[in-house]
Amino acid sequence: MSALTATTRELMDTLVAFDTTSRDSNIDLIHFVRDYLSGHGIESTLIRDRDEPKANLYATLGPKDRPGIMLSGHTDVVPVDGQDWHSDPFRVTEKDGRLYGRGTCDMKGFIAIALAHVPVFLERGLDTPIHLAFSYDEEVGCLGVRHLIDVINALPIRPRMAIIGEPTEMQVIVAHKGKTDINVHVHGFECHSALAPDGVNAVQYAAELISHIAEMARRVAVDGPFDDEFDVAHSTLHTGLIRGGTALNIVPKDCRFEFEIRNLPQQDPQPLLDEIYRFARDELEPRMKAVHPDAGFDFDQGVQYPGLDMRPDDEAVTLVKALAGQNDHAKVAFGTEAGLFQRDAQIPCVICGPGSIAQAHKPDEYLSLDQLAAGQAFMARLADRVCAR
Ligand SMILES: [Zn+2]
Repeated sequence: MSALTATTRELMDTLVAFDTTSRDSNIDLIHFVRDYLSGHGIESTLIRDRDEPKANLYATLGPKDRPGIMLSGHTDVVPVDGQDWHSDPFRVTEKDGRLYGRGTCDMKGFIAIALAHVPVFLERGLDTPIHLAFSYDEEVGCLGVRHLIDVINALPIRPRMAIIGEPTEMQVIVAHKGKTDINVHVHGFECHSALAPDGVNAVQYAAELISHIAEMARRVAVDGPFDDEFDVAHSTLHTGLIRGGTALNIVPKDCRFEFEIRNLPQQDPQPLLDEIYRFARDELEPRMKAVHPDAGFDFDQGVQYPGLDMRPDDEAVTLVKALAGQNDHAKVAFGTEAGLFQRDAQIPCVICGPGSIAQAHKPDEYLSLDQLAAGQAFMARLADRVCAR
């Protein structure tokens, strides 16, 4: 094992051992990274959450007078609750050429590789700066990074481009879909089911709206817009949760459900949302209110993030293709922070990192040693590009 690989592995062990499940704090991990960087003479900016003990970290290696390349990753991980793990998820376990542990591929492996290369970048001297941006609360809707973006937007010199090291098996990803989650509360009016017409059935009105959403989903699948580079070539609408009613002989007074829109980056989801709101307001509520004035719909927006849409001939894409040794690119359905960086900070982003999204979020999540090596080779080529010697 090379010294660099040994360092990467050690850093991975340390990072995975911090339980940074999104509902908990990531601050111990962030303090570790801050101390590690300061050991190499690099000062970090911590952007703390106002309410919780969580923080983003931003640091610049190399010259401060010109824009550089940002290596970006989230430090939080998804829960292991209820998952059947065959090893301790918070300890990296090597078996059959794989490194098992929560976050190994999504995405502490990438962060470990980036950190292990810090001394390499510094010893060889940077012509182009490297920015490190490590966020929190990505897995619960890309929340933490929004504060980081505010700080980046206030910097005199901002990154020229970003590489988001989400697990893509080192494929070059130039686009992903956006997402909007909506929580719906249907207010009905309760009565004995024998007197059903005197009540407003919240479950049935929910069903009518859900059917309408499903109809819209079918329409979008037929009419487009389309982008064949995505696995699912059109935007999708889907209802995933529903809860309502108390007993069969009671007309239900409440029903709650959640739906989402996953939009192609070039399709604004707002007209679709407006159409759903309009249907509820114009078609359903008049009938509900005719029975009881308080009946109706409440809509509450949950997570929303934009899609990423990079031109394949953008210089950021060309560079990442060279670093990854790839000629082609792809587009993915899953969301990342890249869309926010592109929309809110105008930073061109390309997603490329070791490990597979197929292993992310699952029990026995792993990063293969091959992917780790590929990630290191990528970083070594980046060093060749940005270093003076
Ligand atoms: Zn991730």
